[in-house]
Amino acid sequence: MKLNRRQFNAILATSVGTMAAPVPLLGQAKPKVVVIGGGAGGATAARYIARDGKGTIDVTLIENSKTYTSCFFSNLFLGGFRTFDSITHSYDRLESDFGVSVINGYATEIDRDQKAVKLRDGSSIAYDRVVVAPGIDFDYESIPGYSKEAADLAPHAWQAGPQTRKLHELMNALTDGQDIVMLAPPNPYRCPPGPYERASMMAHMIKTKGFKNSRVTILDVKPKFSKQALFSEGWQEHYPDIIEWLPPDIHGGVINVDAKAGVVETDLDTFEGAVLNIIPAMQAGAIAKTSGLTDESGYCPVDGASMRSRIDNDVFVIGDASIAGAMPKSGFSANSQAKIAAMNVRGDLSGSKVFAPKYGNTCWSLISAENSVKVGAQYSANEQGEIVADSTFISATGESTDLRSLAYRESVGWYSAIVADMFG
Ligand SMILES: Cc1cc2nc3c(=O)[nH]c(=O)nc-3n(C[C@H](O)[C@H](O)[C@H](O)COP(=O)(O)OP(=O)(O)OC[C@H]3O[C@@H](n4cnc5c(N)ncnc54)[C@H](O)[C@@H]3O)c2cc1C
Repeated sequence: MKLNRRQFNAILATSVGTMAAPVPLLGQAKPKVVVIGGGAGGATAARYIARDGKGTIDVTLIENSKTYTSCFFSNLFLGGFRTFDSITHSYDRLESDFGVSVINGYATEIDRDQKAVKLRDGSSIAYDRVVVAPGIDFDYESIPGYSKEAADLAPHAWQAGPQTRKLHELMNALTDGQDIVMLAPPNPYRCPPGPYERASMMAHMIKTKGFKNSRVTILDVKPKFSKQALFSEGWQEHYPDIIEWLPPDIHGGVINVDAKAGVVETDLDTFEGAVLNIIPAMQAGAIAKTSGLTDESGYCPVDGASMRSRIDNDVFVIGDASIAGAMPKSGFSANSQAKIAAMNVRGDLSGSKVFAPKYGNTCWSLISAENSVKVGAQYSANEQGEIVADSTFISATGESTDLRSLAYRESVGWYSAIVADMFG
């Protein structure tokens, strides 16, 4: 059927008003996509849209940092298994090999009426579709006494970069008899097994240095955690006198954190640490909220069939900022969601075919040298557009060292593969 302009405009108006399927912008000069945030989600989305669009779509990536330091494998850096350089990556190839325009800057707001992204330097960039992938920001007020400033003394290191280096520096200054205190965050947060892998790496460092009198105490606001049986078994075997995990019914709640004094006060007791690793509650990266894309949970509702925002048809939200049903907030998930969003963006803008989504995730955690455990799943979207797990797997307790070593090598291979998939 051939449409005249009036019929076309009527369909466009209906599609925006009722959130029906968008009309392809076929025939327009060169459609524009802006991606906000160049992490596991955003870098992958930018690369796939540019690569598969073969020069027919203008792709701009706005990223606040000049390089990307991954949170994934940052615990291995803390444990001495990786260098900082090996977890830090450049955006150069996205520009040179895929034609993505990478802008080093901070996006302050999406003007959804004008379809433009505003930057802190006052400039703005027009878009036909925008992919929002800012990761997380912190709710510092979730912990009495803690603040953005206090994070310089008691780092969360839950966004990688200077915070990771700070925690590494503090850990390396530890002497025998001094302790580490970690405050683990409430659900939902990025990387559910992350705090417990980190505690393992801290204990590994203490053991490797030959310290006999230092402890890692985890004060948790949750009564249970991801891969708990596997971590508990590993800690019993490798760090029986080093790691202590205290759930809320034991410590009774955190009353105050004094980063300067190195003290966490709880209902039960006062814990002193030469290193405090305080991880606050999280929410979607600020731009998602300032642009009206979040709901009362602080994260962004999306249609799991496409990763399209449920609030605005021209917006896709991927990675930690999205509410992705059964998928955990992980780099693997963000990368997987990015490819579905990229396919749908291209479908909107060039009419290319769009398929039902298949997502995947595996989270590996290193407990001690060559001893990794994993949990993962395959996912699809149900009729309500919620992401649901179709099949799941998890390492077993009591596994052989060979299997654990194989899982570790798998994780190293995965790291190389995801970084290549993000940055080319
Ligand atoms: C200690 C730790 C260990 C982890 N280990 C694993 C693991 O082993 N496997 C795994 O799969 N996942 C792991 N994760 C989780 C993983 O790092 C995150 O889930 C993943 O990075 C999410 O991707 P994202 O694209 O949503 O956010 P990010 O990767 O954080 O990327 C967001 C990017 O957006 C930029 N940005 C934000 N706001 C703006 C703005 N307004 N303007 C411009 N730029 C902006 C940021 O600078 C950042 O580069 C781990 C996390 C932690 C903390």
